Amino acid sequence: MKNLKIAIQKSGRLNEKSVQLLKNCGLDFENYKSSLITTVSNFPLEILFLRDDDIPGYVEQGIADLGIVGENVIDETESEVNYLQRLGFGKCTLKLAVQKDSDIKDLRDLNGKSIATSYPVILKKFLDEYRIDADIQMISGSVEIAPGLGLSDAICDIVSTGGTLKNNGLKQFADVRKSEAILIGRPGLEDNEILAELLQRIQSVLMAKE
Ligand code: ATP
Ligand code: ZN
Repeated sequence: MKNLKIAIQKSGRLNEKSVQLLKNCGLDFENYKSSLITTVSNFPLEILFLRDDDIPGYVEQGIADLGIVGENVIDETESEVNYLQRLGFGKCTLKLAVQKDSDIKDLRDLNGKSIATSYPVILKKFLDEYRIDADIQMISGSVEIAPGLGLSDAICDIVSTGGTLKNNGLKQFADVRKSEAILIGRPGLEDNEILAELLQRIQSVLMAKE
């Protein structure tokens, strides 16, 4: 049977735990930071190291069969992939936040205001659901500094501990979406023996952790 390919984050918050999960499944591979692809020596699997934003697209197109990525990224890219298994790490929440002294107190106060975010797709859906008409300012990083610089009235950003918000004089006031790392599969992969074996091993590792 043909090797499967799994895409994981090359470096960043999900890299270490993704690698650890695969190693805990008994997979033996060299974790070369410099190469984009590595072969598992004792299981029919190849590992691709990619930017997390690119993972859902690779899996959707079938270039990778599997991927490990945050739900937030899957939603933002609106990818058609199958959710195979929640992995219990990379937990975070996409939250709305404003400056501590802001007069924005609840969701309705966002009408007519501007919100800076790296997640315009998820934010737009959320605002539409609550019938809020706000101006979304897309920025790709350091979203927390936008209100202090006068770029926006609020932000919508990923929070895990809240430390970054606090350090930038911000307070959270609503949750938009919770997220954790998920194993995703390409459409059409359902009846695959290698996947079945890998899933079984992943589930044993997760059970042992509980
Ligand atoms: P890449 O270089 O791969 O594009 P990135 O900078 O976009 O990386 P990271 O900051 O490494 O992404 O975060 C990867 C994922 O980790 C996020 O998409 C999210 O699902 C999860 N995550 C967990 N906690 C946090 C947090 N405090 N801030 C940001 N992301 C978090
Ligand atoms: Zn990214």
